[in-house]
Amino acid sequence: MNAKFRGALIGSAVGDALGAPVEGCKEGEVGLFPGGIIEGRYTDDTEMMIGVAESLIDKRGFDGADMASRFLRNYHAWRRYGPGTRAVLELLRAGVSWEEASKRIFDGAGSYGNGAAMRIAPIGLFYCDDIDTLWDMAYRASHITHSHVLGKEGAAIMACSVALALRGYREEMLSALVARTREEIYRDKLRKIERLLDADRQTVIEELGNGEAAFESVITAIYSFFRFHNFKDSVIYAISLGGDTDTIGSMTGAISGAYYGEEAIPQEWVNALEDGDKGKTYIIWLADELYRIRFKC
Ligand SMILES: [Mg+2]
Repeated sequence: MNAKFRGALIGSAVGDALGAPVEGCKEGEVGLFPGGIIEGRYTDDTEMMIGVAESLIDKRGFDGADMASRFLRNYHAWRRYGPGTRAVLELLRAGVSWEEASKRIFDGAGSYGNGAAMRIAPIGLFYCDDIDTLWDMAYRASHITHSHVLGKEGAAIMACSVALALRGYREEMLSALVARTREEIYRDKLRKIERLLDADRQTVIEELGNGEAAFESVITAIYSFFRFHNFKDSVIYAISLGGDTDTIGSMTGAISGAYYGEEAIPQEWVNALEDGDKGKTYIIWLADELYRIRFKC
């Protein structure tokens, strides 16, 4: 189980770093992606995931004000944050409360981008044995930056996928997610996964998406996990779809890493992952701490 906690967080960081150099490329442009190009630098996805994990560890559970402060403390603009999240972080820095800040962007509609789902894996680990609480905590952790219900729902589905993968559920995962999801757009796409397992890339992109909206990327990551039976092929495939490659790669890596465990992640990818301040050694420590707290050993 400890190896699966590590797998989820390192898998997420590796998928992010692998996808980062081709972010925004079209499917055809990354179609020849050899799966060995890794600069090793992670982006906003992993930086924010680190903040989620730090806060859960320090507060022994969800604390919105603390998690928001972690996001601010860890923030490096060069890790390529999206404009919506940047705007919310500036409001938080100016003293607006974490309950309020995310409601003020996009003319008050809030963001449904995948920025909440991309960082949510630690919530999936921490609340893995209580799906009701997990769903609620994923919503709250999302709200710090993403107040639109479709942004929150995407994060809850992602957290639930990580929890189910961690517990070894594969065949049962889709029906469990369909039963749980309140939003039709997600339910429809989840129901498409099984009949798309042999589809070509263009069809997958048209049916499930590869964009920055949560409903254009979360189900695509779950699909990438399902399409193969090993970590490496799933993550390479996710990135080969183009579009928001770092985030889709990261989410696929989190689910696959939680399912297969740390040993399933190609060693050359882990070797290449950055290891300076809050690099891979620190991320492994976070995974171990989450595990230790969760299982009180
Ligand atoms: Mg990113």
